[in-house]
Amino acid sequence: MSKSTVPVADPASPLGSIAAKCWQCFGGCDADKPEGIRQTRAEIKQCPSADCALYPFRPYQNKAQEASRK
Ligand code: SF4
Repeated sequence: MSKSTVPVADPASPLGSIAAKCWQCFGGCDADKPEGIRQTRAEIKQCPSADCALYPFRPYQNKAQEASRK
């Protein structure tokens, strides 16, 4: 997945499809507006729905930070 594009569902990429669902969950954004892309990424990263089945697999997590909490 490119950092400069909005992810789309792809049967060949389960993680890419999860990312697309997360973007859909937060309403997506206009891909032509970089500030909107940055904001949506931040919202997904800070997703408050820990009970969502996709939560552990959502994109833009800081893996090192997550590991230090365990
Ligand atoms: S992990 Fe968060 S952003 Fe992704 S689908 Fe679930 S609730 Fe939505």
